[in-house]
Amino acid sequence: MISVIYSDEFLEHKTGMLHPERPERLTAIVTALKAFPNNGQLQWQSPTPVQQRHSSLMTLLQKVHSSSHIEAVAEIANRGGGYLDGDTPVSPKSYNVALLAVSAWLDGVDLVLGNGKPAFVLARPPGHHAETKRGMGFCLFSNAAIAAHYALEKPDINKVAILDWDVHHGNGTQEIVETNENIAYCSLHQSPCYPGTGSGNEHGSYNNVLNLPMSPGSTMAIYQPIFEQKVIPFLTNFQPDLLIVSAGYDANHDDPLASISLQPKDYGLFTEYCLQITPKILFGLEGGYDLPSLSQSVVATIESCLQVS
Ligand SMILES: [Zn+2]
Repeated sequence: MISVIYSDEFLEHKTGMLHPERPERLTAIVTALKAFPNNGQLQWQSPTPVQQRHSSLMTLLQKVHSSSHIEAVAEIANRGGGYLDGDTPVSPKSYNVALLAVSAWLDGVDLVLGNGKPAFVLARPPGHHAETKRGMGFCLFSNAAIAAHYALEKPDINKVAILDWDVHHGNGTQEIVETNENIAYCSLHQSPCYPGTGSGNEHGSYNNVLNLPMSPGSTMAIYQPIFEQKVIPFLTNFQPDLLIVSAGYDANHDDPLASISLQPKDYGLFTEYCLQITPKILFGLEGGYDLPSLSQSVVATIESCLQVS
């Protein structure tokens, strides 16, 4: 069985007509997961309501984000909506939905550490572009970095690795974790591409960052040796007690926002590589904007997990 954490409330973060990061992304994934042959092995779970852990969640949020950023998101939502930057809308319910997304990622940490098996968080808004002091690139709060900090508060968790295979560099995640020796961050991302960060020369304060810029047009034939020779050794050497995957699926060939040429099944192989490191993997949705590719890629990820669970 694989736990999938999801709520219809995640559809209430409204981004407006024609915005690629739209509620239909989640609807397409849920529809595909309910139809695929092994759907009986999915355990659907609702996230813990924010009010049940409001105080501890806010304390955690404030460890990662400045109060001014948190207040800015709340204030824009309360006044009826607006923008954090040109492409990052905040709708009236976005603040509450973003907090629920954080709660879902925290539930994912608890599930993975509790049963030693992978789990998948199907939440939005995504998070990996959100920095300490600002949201950007469709992201409000840094879900993956917050989840890593949450895991590290547990007595037997000493190290957390984050693998970010979204096609864009997770500038926010890196900025938040690169000075923390207990968190490693590895990103494969198209270069050049938004947001323009993620140089291979950056290694973090503790050699805990590995950026792997990929040329436009790269296929699995390019990705596979990089996974085998760089990604897996880096993550294995770090010996994480938990692996968090910032699972964006916008490196697909059909994705409209980038120019990498992966196929949905390739994410199944990425997942198999990760499972060689540890079964304790939390997958959390980041990008992915071509709905058929996105939903097929999530199915491929989960099918690989089911092979070992
Ligand atoms: Zn992306």
